[in-house]
Amino acid sequence: MWTQGYAAKQAKVQLEQTSFDLGELGPNEVDVRVTHCGVCHTDVAMVDNEWGISQYPVVPGHEVVGVVEAVGSAVTELAIGQRVGVGALCGSCMHCEWCIGGRQHVCPQVRGTVMGEHKGGFASVVRVDHSLFAHPIPDGIASEHAGPLLCAGTTVFTPLLRHNVLPTDRVAVVGIRGLGHLAVQYLSKLGCEVTAISSTHDKDEQAYGFGAKRFIATRGTDELQRATAQFDFVLSTVSADLPWDLYMATLRPQGKLCIVGIPANPISVVSWNLIGGERSLVGGQPGSIVETRRMLEFTARHGIKPMIETFPMSEANAALDHTRQGKARFRSVLVA
Ligand SMILES: [Zn+2]
Ligand SMILES: [Zn+2]
Repeated sequence: MWTQGYAAKQAKVQLEQTSFDLGELGPNEVDVRVTHCGVCHTDVAMVDNEWGISQYPVVPGHEVVGVVEAVGSAVTELAIGQRVGVGALCGSCMHCEWCIGGRQHVCPQVRGTVMGEHKGGFASVVRVDHSLFAHPIPDGIASEHAGPLLCAGTTVFTPLLRHNVLPTDRVAVVGIRGLGHLAVQYLSKLGCEVTAISSTHDKDEQAYGFGAKRFIATRGTDELQRATAQFDFVLSTVSADLPWDLYMATLRPQGKLCIVGIPANPISVVSWNLIGGERSLVGGQPGSIVETRRMLEFTARHGIKPMIETFPMSEANAALDHTRQGKARFRSVLVA
């Protein structure tokens, strides 16, 4: 099947409108007609080949919301016209140890929506490699808000489940942008005491609005140094190379520093910062099928919303630039 989308033909060029062939619809596959698509930093990284893994043409977009347009012969759980979302992952083998254990996101054969030859949601139609990666959107979530949940939302929500973050915990969120502003809301609704950490104080009123109780600005202050042994969990959502030992020192005994942003350089910490107090340094990624669906349910139940700016799909380049330059407050969403 032929469809159209916005593609980068090589690194660091403008997207161009292009037609491409999705081929025959396989038995477990689903085609989703795109109505909305969020813009994530990973889209910029794939268009610009920041990680050296891009295969051109790249059609970005992995916070996709739309309606089911066609289902393969083996798909019984989705109806034509049903509203669904597709995140960073669009398929996995469905039979390995990890897939049958409900952890498809760590399957060795997991397929990314904007990875390899797969075409993402800056397009009329997105093909999902397995129907279970097309997630029904709860009624309480507007389509324009659903997109950012599907990558940013699951990326920050899953580590809270994985690491058993409790309502009694004191948690810090580093970076109050696309991911961080959702993390503060989730943690606040979980009942945690949330501290927002950003370079300056210019987002503190907004962070308090998302549910933060405290705010730490790091640039030109000693506020971080004074936060020694205060947090049970620190979630870093930024792609900057941070002074990791300073952040490790903010952890209470058995606390965890969880990295979901993607810093360019290796992360190193003084070994005593791990050994003393049994502290951990861990990573997180967008969650499994069931974790993504629990995140959507929790989001609907608590009325959590990403704060978004919308662009028409025809301004895909402007929306991508907005994210590339770090100007989005807090997430850009394309509307078809
Ligand atoms: Zn698998
Ligand atoms: Zn993403």
